[in-house]
Amino acid sequence: RRKTDEGSVVVVGLGRFGCHLSGALTALNHEVLAIDRNPDQVQRWSAQLDRVVQADATEEGALRQLGVADFGRAVVAIGASVEASVLTVLALADLGVPQIWARATSTKHAKILDSVGAHHVVFPEAETGERVAHLIVSRMLDFI
Ligand code: ATP
Repeated sequence: RRKTDEGSVVVVGLGRFGCHLSGALTALNHEVLAIDRNPDQVQRWSAQLDRVVQADATEEGALRQLGVADFGRAVVAIGASVEASVLTVLALADLGVPQIWARATSTKHAKILDSVGAHHVVFPEAETGERVAHLIVSRMLDFI
């Protein structure tokens, strides 16, 4: 079995979620390879992140060429396009990436991600909304 780098993370999609994720992982001393198909996004983040490349992550061959198969973890941070996120998870699973995290925007989206090989599915908008509701309620209790 080939050797994978446990601490290294591939992040696909440098939208609002993906860029914060990549920045936080970098601050935590993890090697990050960030991929976005939009050259403007690549240009925008290339100064802040160590490795940012322009590629369509739904293309398994492109991911292979970038050495993605040697990474221990990948996060698919694409939100708006269900098709792009599903095809990217499928490509990562075919390459044998050991831990695939994916962002879902609905429960149906999550179901598909799960069935094509995502190991962990997260709902950033739903999770943050719930967390803020709990924060508000706990602050209200402070004043009772
Ligand atoms: P956010 O809420 O994080 O800003 P969004 O839902 O508004 O995200 P998306 O359309 O999900 O925006 O795109 C997030 C990023 O993913 C964009 O920068 C986009 O260029 C990138 N992206 C979309 N499809 C692909 C793909 N096939 N390969 C690589 N990057 C992609």
